[in-house]
Amino acid sequence: MARKKKTNNYRLILQWTIIVLLVYLIVRPLVDRSYIADFEAYCPFGGLQALSSFLANNSLACSMTTTQIAMGLALLAGVFLFSKLFCSYICPIGIFTEWLGRIGKRFKMNFVITGPADRLLRVLKYAILFVTFYFSVSSSELFCKTFDPYYAVFSGFGSDVVMGYAVMALLLAIPGSFFIRQFWCKYICPLSAASNIFSFGFVFLGIVGVYALLTAGFGLQIGWIWLLGALSMAGVVLETTRLKFGIFPIVKVTRNAETCTSCRLCDKACPMAIRISDIPKVEHIDCHLCGDCVSSCPEPETLQFNKRKINWLPAAATVGLVILGLAFASVTDIPTISLKWGSSGQMENAAIFRQSGLKSVKCFGSSMSFANHMKELSGVLGVEAFVSDNSVKVYYDPAVTNEMEIKEFIFTPVSRVVAAPADGLKQITISEFAVDKFFDPSDAGLLAIKLGQKPGVLAFETMFGEPVHTFVFYDSSLVSAGEISKLIEEKKVKWEIDGEPGEATTGFKVASVDPRPALSLKGYLEKMYEPVTMTFNGFEDYDSVQTAEILLPFSAAAEPSLADMPWYLLSHISNNRGVIKFEIQTTDSGFVLSLIYVPEITTREQVMIQLNEPQLKVHLSDGSEQKLENPFRF
Ligand code: SF4
Ligand code: SF4
Repeated sequence: MARKKKTNNYRLILQWTIIVLLVYLIVRPLVDRSYIADFEAYCPFGGLQALSSFLANNSLACSMTTTQIAMGLALLAGVFLFSKLFCSYICPIGIFTEWLGRIGKRFKMNFVITGPADRLLRVLKYAILFVTFYFSVSSSELFCKTFDPYYAVFSGFGSDVVMGYAVMALLLAIPGSFFIRQFWCKYICPLSAASNIFSFGFVFLGIVGVYALLTAGFGLQIGWIWLLGALSMAGVVLETTRLKFGIFPIVKVTRNAETCTSCRLCDKACPMAIRISDIPKVEHIDCHLCGDCVSSCPEPETLQFNKRKINWLPAAATVGLVILGLAFASVTDIPTISLKWGSSGQMENAAIFRQSGLKSVKCFGSSMSFANHMKELSGVLGVEAFVSDNSVKVYYDPAVTNEMEIKEFIFTPVSRVVAAPADGLKQITISEFAVDKFFDPSDAGLLAIKLGQKPGVLAFETMFGEPVHTFVFYDSSLVSAGEISKLIEEKKVKWEIDGEPGEATTGFKVASVDPRPALSLKGYLEKMYEPVTMTFNGFEDYDSVQTAEILLPFSAAAEPSLADMPWYLLSHISNNRGVIKFEIQTTDSGFVLSLIYVPEITTREQVMIQLNEPQLKVHLSDGSEQKLENPFRF
């Protein structure tokens, strides 16, 4: 009588949970355009690379997070105690390639590689592990993103993916796993190689211990690449010669030979093609404690974990380790950079200033820029930056500097025009808003977007203070100080650049609003715009009787979206040898273009034709020439 096939429900539930989470990550950005799915956020392999990068360089790249590191540590603990639980219960590539292999098996097209070919192919994953860690640690970027088939597919072949590598990996993963049992996991996956190295527990700890002793204990300069090489080589030798675990992992599948009927259902159920039916204990390196053999066994208490009826244990341990990892990540924050340039004596007595909300601290590069900026302030001894929450810790000598000085040094005042004054506007109203939760240039950028979307607001300037002094220049016939105040406090700011929508959250609070003396249009233009004036083509060789002037209203010069264009117009007009001076003058009725020319060389008509040419011929600072569309008409 045919026996009913028993399924491993513990494992199926976890695998389907992962699939549902992936579907959520795909669907959510379709309905919430501000949501950016991070498909690698919980990847333990990324975490192991991030941890290595942090230990080797004292820095993390932006794409590396404490959550990934916590997941990497959870994987390490899992391998020591329970085997490769991530591979078995969570890994999306593992799930996909295993199910693909089952289809191949159903069509009788899936086979198992054995003997020397099997052992030789196993070297591949250690080579990939070595290369991946070498490039990740030396560049502080996750090299696995360049080829990871899972990341390539779910990120839609995003910018980190190298097409050639990813296509090759997909070709190995998809047809490879269809035809060859667990081809990806056994022969290609670098995480599988790393897990196997951990499972050779004493050898792994021994190599790391010797390296730590030689470098930290005896002060020898031995690069991390030697440690990586030694671990990879140990993995190759132990896996290809033994194909067996040692003491670790502690939990193993055990078989009771007295109750076993040798029906071989367990052998058929094993996704890794391990022959279980004639051994007392599964110690094969490929066993990832999935429990499919245990679930498939028809004889009670024959296949168990460590001779106990604890079929739920691997799935429960997987969930427990993930929860522990997330809890660890929530209370630990590893800095993106940690730089201390004070002496050990200075650091012992250092005070710490903490600042959050620095939106400009958003990646490894901007963290380094922040640290380099802080080095210029006397008394600052070190910086730790955390891109995960845009915060910094500044270590300083309280005898030399103080928190207020540091805050002022971090703050960058800005002066930003957001709209041109309307024709006919004679007076510009000014109000000073005391704005809380305003920290850095990114906040100024978000405020500029907000204010630029309100008709009547023309410009703003900021000055350090607590709260920040924010002077807003506006046309009071179109907008009031109260409306501007409400706008500043709005939580969400949205924009669209080249059809791409963007959204951010701000926490600005307006503590007070005070009117300031108004400015005439001329005074406002002189204050907020850089003067544009230049002489050329032998200006000094002519006296005023030899020249004539053209004066033209030039209100478009106040348009912030055309900020650099007047300089390009100047460059263009200098191509006319008869024009010798270009100046944008400020007047009570707005900007006026003044051109001085020599009538003996050129005429007013020729100058006007040139001013209205559809394209500007401009000379760039590197000596090259470029043609640009002319946005001006006179
Ligand atoms: S031996 Fe059992 S627990 Fe190990 S991989 Fe095979 S089926 Fe899973
Ligand atoms: S362990 Fe169970 S499934 Fe495997 S051969 Fe024995 S009785 Fe059959």
